[in-house]
Amino acid sequence: MIMYEAERSRLVNGLRSRGYVTDERVLEAMERVPRHEFLPPDMRDQAYIDSPLPIGMGQTISAPHMVGIMLQALDLQPGNKVLEIGAGSGYHAALMGELVRPGGMVYTVERLEPLGRRAKETMERLGYDDVVDVVIADGSLGLPEHAPYDRITVAAAAPDVPKPLEEQLADNGRMLIPVGGQGYQDLVLVTRKGDSLERTGLGGVVFVPLIGEHGYRDQSLRM
Ligand code: SAH
Repeated sequence: MIMYEAERSRLVNGLRSRGYVTDERVLEAMERVPRHEFLPPDMRDQAYIDSPLPIGMGQTISAPHMVGIMLQALDLQPGNKVLEIGAGSGYHAALMGELVRPGGMVYTVERLEPLGRRAKETMERLGYDDVVDVVIADGSLGLPEHAPYDRITVAAAAPDVPKPLEEQLADNGRMLIPVGGQGYQDLVLVTRKGDSLERTGLGGVVFVPLIGEHGYRDQSLRM
């Protein structure tokens, strides 16, 4: 059953014409992945509005333009091994799965078990389980068993770049992470060349907090 195709095309064409996203591979992936399938049933009608939306347990899925901007900055290539911290609904991970096929793999970590379980089911239902592996754990520690990663993307705001994530970034790798507190952060691109790491600020963003050993301690102490 094909649903929301026209709405999805309209959204992607809007991102294209406003110049937010220029990478055609990213735009094509956004045309293919059905965002509504990642949302709770009562939110599906809003899936193709360019807006962040609640996905349950106090968490949110980013607005499509932000997802597009992040995917473009990550510069994903077929064959890449990718680590995502904060699977949430799994939408961003599925898009990355499209971009690293063939030969690549996305490991996405979620600390909230109900969300992680639901994301895993969605991957199976939509046929992304061969390219996206959902792991329930504290992602502020990274995922050492599959390191190093060509790309790392963090979907929650950290007080600083967690050391384990720097250590798990491959040579010539790229990491995107929102850094800062108080409901407003800088989206930071970290690149590695050999032993040297470089940070570039890409602008202001608003993300939910990264909770964990190398993140914020808990929701009540947040930011
Ligand atoms: N990328 C997601 C949106 C994620 S919202 C999507 O496409 O839907 C951020 C997510 O990060 C939330 O689900 C939150 O539970 C998770 N999170 C916060 N701290 C975490 C940690 N230390 N490890 C793993 N996930 C974490």
